[in-house]
Amino acid sequence: MGALQPIHLVLILVIVLIIFGAGRLTEVGGALGKGVRDFRANVESKDATSPATTAGARHCTNCGAELPSGARFCARCGAGVVASS
Ligand SMILES: [Zn+2]
Repeated sequence: MGALQPIHLVLILVIVLIIFGAGRLTEVGGALGKGVRDFRANVESKDATSPATTAGARHCTNCGAELPSGARFCARCGAGVVASS
């Protein structure tokens, strides 16, 4: 059992084509494309919400490193951080 090689992918594609037929394949491809679009929409929505979750995070004024809440010193450069409250 060797590693999966491009020729195997071609063989699998040919077998799938024979089983489903070309017409059915476009259907499956369409469903797959829809799934990919949904997945991307999910990822993008997560990306859109992630800045909101980090909006409250403070950053070191010296090096710009993100600071955990309650940190008094920067973990990266060791500069003192003034607690903002
Ligand atoms: Zn720093």
